[in-house]
Amino acid sequence: MSGIGTGFVFAGISPRVVFGAGTLARVGDEIRRLGRSRALVLSTPNQAGDAAALSAALGDLSAGIFAAAEMHTPVAVTARAVEAYRAAGADCVVALGGGSTIGLGKAIATRTGADQVAVPTTYAGSEMTDILGETEGGRKTTRRDASIRPETVVYDVDLTLGLPVAMTVTSALNAIAHAVEALYAPDANPVIGLMSIDGVRAFREGLPVVAATPRDREARAQVLYGAWLCSIALGYTTMSLHHKLAHVLGGSFGTPHAETHAILLPHTAGFNAAGTDRLAEIAALFGGSVGGGLWDFAKSLGAPLRLSELGLSEADLDRAAAIAVENRYANPRPFEEDDIRALLQAAWEGTRPD
Ligand code: NAD
Repeated sequence: MSGIGTGFVFAGISPRVVFGAGTLARVGDEIRRLGRSRALVLSTPNQAGDAAALSAALGDLSAGIFAAAEMHTPVAVTARAVEAYRAAGADCVVALGGGSTIGLGKAIATRTGADQVAVPTTYAGSEMTDILGETEGGRKTTRRDASIRPETVVYDVDLTLGLPVAMTVTSALNAIAHAVEALYAPDANPVIGLMSIDGVRAFREGLPVVAATPRDREARAQVLYGAWLCSIALGYTTMSLHHKLAHVLGGSFGTPHAETHAILLPHTAGFNAAGTDRLAEIAALFGGSVGGGLWDFAKSLGAPLRLSELGLSEADLDRAAAIAVENRYANPRPFEEDDIRALLQAAWEGTRPD
């Protein structure tokens, strides 16, 4: 098990989590529990209706709505949100949505000291982490700091029942990627390792049921539980090759976040499985082969399998491979630019890894 022999640091796990069906009704109590009384409710334009309903349900505890969150947390959007936060006299935020909305909540909190209640509606997993990525002038910068982490997370299964199947699947594969990389992370520890494996198991069992019957509340609960565990995995370890490549493709070529993770995962995990024994339980969960098993799983769920589908050209792969080796970082299997180029080619063509 990760880290026992080599020693480890375990720093505890926060934030507080309220999990279950119908828990959205408990957001008001959670705001009061934090000693706050005026929440700015955040969402994307897509989820503005849900944000308005939540704001109405919160009554006097709501200071208003800011429904303009965008992917990759543009600094210009954050500036407008901070203005709205101050103008409303708010003292906390409630981020209702996926990683984009939760990212905006974090960005507001770092600038104002606001407490955050995160209410995730995808499986991307920003809510348990101390990570904030922001974009300005086409450049994404990412930082980690304990103050970035939300104070409370409310997981309401009911909010995920309508998550479209395609988004459900790519978002889940994005979450699984966090758990896989946590298992061989340089700062892995046995507790996060257990959570990572159980998180992947929850997706392995629940996702096929959700893909077939998206409104199955029990299967949705199992998958949301997996999302919680995989978010912890991301929030308490340092990611390696898979995340580096996803960051390069998203940052330099504008590929969509969840789809990029979903397509890369079988290839990066398969590549790294040859360099570590820490993925043995992942292999067992997926029929004995990490790369091939994850690829079969993704295919069976109708996930995108080819980077070419995301508009990348083969020339882009040359550039991406060069960028990916510019800075060195911990990875269980050593690699050179040629290895990355070959991995990207396989992901571009959508071939099944061994
Ligand atoms: P997203 O938040 O961008 O959501 C995509 C779209 O789906 C939005 O329009 C949203 O309103 C809609 N949506 C969300 N939930 C829905 C639901 N239940 N039903 C219907 N529509 C719904 O997508 P995401 O994949 O959750 O987040 C991606 C972003 O999060 C990226 O910017 C990524 O960098 C960031 N992220 C950050 C971290 C971190 O720790 N900082 C972790 C994971 C992801």
